[in-house]
Amino acid sequence: MRGGRKVDAGQVAALKMEKLLAGYRRFRASGWPGQRRLFESLASDGQRPQALVVGCVDSRVDPGVIFDAAPGQMLTVRNVANLVPPYAPDVAYHGTSAALEFGVRVLGVSHLVVLGHGLCGGVRALLEGAPENARDFVGPWMSMAESARVRAMRCAAQSERQQLAEQEVIKISLANLMTFPWIAESVAAGTLALHGTWFCIGTGTLAILQPDGSFVPTLPDGEPDRAPPR
Ligand SMILES: [Zn+2]
Repeated sequence: MRGGRKVDAGQVAALKMEKLLAGYRRFRASGWPGQRRLFESLASDGQRPQALVVGCVDSRVDPGVIFDAAPGQMLTVRNVANLVPPYAPDVAYHGTSAALEFGVRVLGVSHLVVLGHGLCGGVRALLEGAPENARDFVGPWMSMAESARVRAMRCAAQSERQQLAEQEVIKISLANLMTFPWIAESVAAGTLALHGTWFCIGTGTLAILQPDGSFVPTLPDGEPDRAPPR
């Protein structure tokens, strides 16, 4: 800056917004023309997504990118550590539960996918305590996964605790999904299926939760990988 003047907060915000708007301009120039008809039909006919994904806010784990979903194919709700709270129809503000109600009861999705991931900061906060400046909400939010912390501390070596807790959190979310009566009813009726998935950021590998509780990597061609011999 000229004369050593510091950039003030407003200028920083403007620079960042400019980066976002540059992205929007690229979308309008290269993405929009090819997808215009799709967007127009989604606007006139409405959306009929088949799946709802509960993902984490982490910028590296975008469900639309990972599942290569086109607009209109997938509902997404993202929160810290892809947690589903238990069914609690009270006066509190339940963002994730509202998204589930909309997706399952109004739009009738047939798949609910919980997408967890490696290096999850929310799970790290669960294991090590929330950062000092994130205790108003992150700490209490993660406390719903306390049983994952307990299991990770009890069952895993320190180097494996983070991943074990991330995968336990996915199981907690799946169990909490079944506390919603209309989800449990749809699952029992065979019109709704629940899935647990875990994404490795560094390798791009997606692992699928199996009936035995293990997570098995899926190969790019969709064939389930073989678990390594023990
Ligand atoms: Zn995360």
